[in-house]
Amino acid sequence: MADTARTVIIEEHGGPEVLRVVEREVGEPGPGEIRIRHEACGLNFIDCYQRSGLYPMQLPQALGMEASGVVEAVGEGVTHLSAGDRAAYAALPPGAYCEARVMPAAQVCRLPDAIPFDEGAAMMLKGLTVQYLFHRTTPLKAGDTVLFHAAAGGVGLIACQWAKSEGIRLIGTAGSDEKCALALEHGADACINYATEDWAARVRELTDGAGVDVVMDSVGKATFEGSLDCLKPLGMMISFGNASGAVEAFNLGILGQKGSLKVTRPTLFTHIADHAACQEMAGMLFGKVVSGDVKIRIGQRFPLEEVAEAHRALEARRTTGQTILTLS
Ligand code: NDP
Repeated sequence: MADTARTVIIEEHGGPEVLRVVEREVGEPGPGEIRIRHEACGLNFIDCYQRSGLYPMQLPQALGMEASGVVEAVGEGVTHLSAGDRAAYAALPPGAYCEARVMPAAQVCRLPDAIPFDEGAAMMLKGLTVQYLFHRTTPLKAGDTVLFHAAAGGVGLIACQWAKSEGIRLIGTAGSDEKCALALEHGADACINYATEDWAARVRELTDGAGVDVVMDSVGKATFEGSLDCLKPLGMMISFGNASGAVEAFNLGILGQKGSLKVTRPTLFTHIADHAACQEMAGMLFGKVVSGDVKIRIGQRFPLEEVAEAHRALEARRTTGQTILTLS
């Protein structure tokens, strides 16, 4: 068994050029840890924030938060996994862009046999995010209307299908007509090209002037204000990302003027910090995928060595659906 594994690290924050593939020692798992040999790794926008320094990190740092593979060894106290198990995860600390690693076991989940490794690698961080957005952030029920930005992206295409499976009306936005068509194919009830349309006005039209119950906004700076204008009185703004830049400080009074709105800024890692909660959330996600309610659409595959090109494509809005890094 090789003691080293190809691993992507950064030694400084910056553009995609700071990503380097190096050989690193893997080691043996300590208490509460596992050693896992990856089959594939998932690419997420958060990896770009960590690389660029929008989310500053101690350097040098291995990157990547999501992968699938086979458990090779378990440390003392790990009871939910055994050597030989198929597994997938979204987890801290970063370091998932690699062939093999030692990592904490708590957020690693057994991957059902019916889900291929590629899909397991592509779906954990994005799918668990959709789970907490729809089930753990604000009460949502069939018939409610949600505005979901970047609906053709990795999280977005899962959200479109998830909403459909629960009878929630999802109005998407996306940056081109082709992307809008993809969101519609995946279950969005409507999709607005926000590059060419007055999307906030269009949301009003689509809701007969009422506005939506909830906005799920991962675009951030460019859409935050317009999103508030799309909400019903007492509506909930879930700001969960910064693809266009971080949301700027704003006057809280605006929430009162626009109808006693609520705003929250959640992150997945708060929700999955608890082992039992994480495993339960994953159980629901696996159920959606195994039943066919949610299909994982891997739009792009890049060999690990081309990780910089993968980051460029994601940041340039050239990707749709999920993206993985391959290891063979
Ligand atoms: P996506 O595949 O959705 O890619 C991001 C998309 O954002 C782009 O494809 C693009 O779609 C849109 N976008 C809008 N403006 C910009 C811009 N200026 N630059 C780049 N992209 C832009 O990524 P992920 O699925 O990995 O993540 C989606 C979002 O969800 C990210 O913001 C991520 O940080 C957030 N997230 C948050 C989590 C949390 O718990 N808080 C967990 C997981 C993800 P288009 O061309 O259609 O506009």
